Amino acid sequence: MNVFVVNCGSSSLKYQLIETDSEKVVAKGICERIGIDGKLKHKPTGKDEVVKEVAMPDHKAAVAYVLEALTDENSGVIADLSEIDAVGHRIVHGGEKFASSVVITDDIISAIEECNDLAPLHNPANLIGIAACRELMKDVPMVGVFDTAFHQTMPKKAFMYGLAYEYYEEYKIRKYGFHGTSHSFVSKRLLEILNKTDEPSKVIICHLGNGSSITAVKDGKSFDTSMGFTPLDGLIMGTRTGSIDPAVVQYIADKKGYTIDQVMNVLNKESGVDGLSGVSSDFRDLDEASMAGNERAILALEMFAYRAAQYIGSYVAAMNGIDAIAFTAGIGENDDKVRAAICSYLGYLGITLDVDANNVRGKEALITTADSKVPVYTIPTNEELAIARETVALIS
Ligand code: AMP
Repeated sequence: MNVFVVNCGSSSLKYQLIETDSEKVVAKGICERIGIDGKLKHKPTGKDEVVKEVAMPDHKAAVAYVLEALTDENSGVIADLSEIDAVGHRIVHGGEKFASSVVITDDIISAIEECNDLAPLHNPANLIGIAACRELMKDVPMVGVFDTAFHQTMPKKAFMYGLAYEYYEEYKIRKYGFHGTSHSFVSKRLLEILNKTDEPSKVIICHLGNGSSITAVKDGKSFDTSMGFTPLDGLIMGTRTGSIDPAVVQYIADKKGYTIDQVMNVLNKESGVDGLSGVSSDFRDLDEASMAGNERAILALEMFAYRAAQYIGSYVAAMNGIDAIAFTAGIGENDDKVRAAICSYLGYLGITLDVDANNVRGKEALITTADSKVPVYTIPTNEELAIARETVALIS
């Protein structure tokens, strides 16, 4: 079966066409600068990448160019659109309405729209992508896969804030958590490796990328997670502060004469390891700068690992134990130094890193010694494949 996986941002559209029996990517690409000018980068597997600068006034135009590229005589991978069996859409926020993926219908679209307030930058873009695909591929079944859905199993004591209850009742202010597709995919794989898919289990998944979050997964279900009402909470990230005393918002606004929007921009886009180091949000640049003795880069890396270790420790306590830990995403899969720095805090759990085994990038591997009390793994995440699998499961 060919599943077209679509991930729409406000001015971008990432896609993959996945043949789900073999789980192979047939083609993938990205449309950028939608609504500004427009650029399509299309990579058919086994053929050269095609780059086209074409006017993309909206997402519908972008989807049309992608479908054209997929069926083109030269860059194409399918003869015509009838070879696309289903579409899987990534949707950022499903609020409390969606605890799992769904087949998209008119009613479902209305329910997603009701979550727009919770993710005003992301959900409307996701919905535009859905509308564009529905218009251009009328009879093709579509499935929505939510970033928040996996975390809907968190117990109330974990997802509530210490905020007056009426704010939860009236405005649904609570922890939602994000990266759910990745945490679900990686935790499932980790439980397979541990042979614990049908047994009680306690694992922690560290999704460390440009955005980062850590999730405690108990018996295969999300039990607690570090991102909150929005993806700003929790770990220190590329450009995001992570958890911070909320009183800082007013203090910066007063000192700088900023509006709330301007302060939120500082917290979301000018902070994290980028703002701390003044070097970059990319851990490869930070590593280079720290090796050259840049003290702020060294500090940013130390803070990143320290915060991650704090979350791991708190989740071991929350679950009263731990069977295994997995690192995933850009940093988690590739940065052996960050993994080593985090694991250096975990000796009290009997974790012993295998320095040679930890010298691994982008591959599934056990990175602790045979006598480590808790095994630690690297497991590559694959959100697109997870979306394709969910899509097949729902439409079959
Ligand atoms: P993601 O959001 O999962 O795509 O992760 C992107 C981030 O992963 C980049 O900003 C880098 O900080 C980090 N990253 C990617 N490759 C490497 C690498 N080889 N070594 C260290 N960090 C990396």
